[in-house]
Amino acid sequence: MDFDLNDEQQMFRRIVREFCESELKPHAHDIDENGALHWPAIRKMRDLGLLSMQVPEAYGGAELDTLSASIAVEELGRVCGSTALSISAHNGLGLGPIVRWGSPEQKARFIPTLTDGEHLGALALTEPQAGSDLLNGAKTYAVRDGDAWVVNGNKAWITNPKYAPVIVVLLRTDRDAGSRGFSMMLVETDRPGLTIHPPEKKMGLKGSPTQMLTFENVRVPLDNLLGPEGDGFKQTMQTLDSGRISIGALSVGLAQGAFEEMVRYAKDRHAFGEPIANKQAIQWMIANAAVEIEAARTLVYKAAWTKDAGRDFTKIASIAKLKASEVAEKVCHDAIQIHGSYGYSREYPVERMYRDQRLMTIGEGTSEIQRMVIARKVLAGE
Ligand SMILES: Cc1cc2nc3c(=O)[nH]c(=O)nc-3n(C[C@H](O)[C@H](O)[C@H](O)COP(=O)(O)OP(=O)(O)OC[C@H]3O[C@@H](n4cnc5c(N)ncnc54)[C@H](O)[C@@H]3O)c2cc1C
Repeated sequence: MDFDLNDEQQMFRRIVREFCESELKPHAHDIDENGALHWPAIRKMRDLGLLSMQVPEAYGGAELDTLSASIAVEELGRVCGSTALSISAHNGLGLGPIVRWGSPEQKARFIPTLTDGEHLGALALTEPQAGSDLLNGAKTYAVRDGDAWVVNGNKAWITNPKYAPVIVVLLRTDRDAGSRGFSMMLVETDRPGLTIHPPEKKMGLKGSPTQMLTFENVRVPLDNLLGPEGDGFKQTMQTLDSGRISIGALSVGLAQGAFEEMVRYAKDRHAFGEPIANKQAIQWMIANAAVEIEAARTLVYKAAWTKDAGRDFTKIASIAKLKASEVAEKVCHDAIQIHGSYGYSREYPVERMYRDQRLMTIGEGTSEIQRMVIARKVLAGE
């Protein structure tokens, strides 16, 4: 299972797995049924470094390499998709841009609250009319007015706002400047004029809140700009490259969880006088799942390793995310098939895993967008 992991990474995986087995797995069903994260487990994640995975130690973070962070998200995904998505978004989307582009003052102001075990971070890119095509479709804008930016517009499908003290928001700051017309801004969620709407009713990942935001003349101090004005689109693309490794890891985790359930059930369930695991049709589904999960995991780890090595990882991140999300879809599908009617029941975890995995080919760039990114890179000879 362990793709050339060093001792520290292997030990980290064991610790996170034990935590997930004891603190998260027993609650995964209720998290889905009740549509709410299990905060006692999230609070405990603080001491494991899971709430500050790639935050520098200087800011109290765990300063993990990307491979270790991927392992953590994979392990969370193996037991609970909702928690894994919220923790992945918190680390990669909420904290990631602050760690990367925040001024020392912004880091000192926001990181301690975001990592205190009582809050989660969020990144707002998507709008009701634009997800894949932010460049042409995103409308939410900010204009300067004295000592503040004034923000108006809507964001949609944002993970974690209800738990976020501050949200990183992509805004148009110059409507005539194309891709140079966007900036990232830190918007505190208690600012007058910002409405955080109730969580969407979703197919899966029900414990992870997905919410719409409305900005009506929200005044944001000028120094809440995150990084240079005009860099927002570039920052978004770079953040998504990293996020795709994390969604790939989450997909591998979901596939692994479903795989373990399918193997267990195939050994227990009898038909025609023997365990169904003795039937070749079942064995082939199990074998295919084993092969595909191994391939997906290897790609995700390679993407993480490429990022940690400081190389261009855009293509490999898209390849890993595309492959892993499609593997999760197939493995979770087959896990239900092997369970027969029981797989269709909410009493068995594979039903939840199947619903949870469905986002993975959509969020942080759909499979079509991943293929577009990969093809562009290939055609450019990269
Ligand atoms: C549970 C959940 C959590 C989310 N969390 C966040 C979050 O935290 N922050 C955030 O900003 N967003 C978030 N999103 C939004 C998500 O990232 C977008 O939904 C996603 O990027 C797709 O955008 P869209 O829904 O607008 O689809 P569209 O862009 O409208 O795409 C619709 C279809 O057209 C296809 N398509 C679009 N362009 C092309 C093309 N050029 N070639 C071929 N096909 C194309 C797409 O692949 C898709 O099949 C979340 C969504 C969900 C469901």
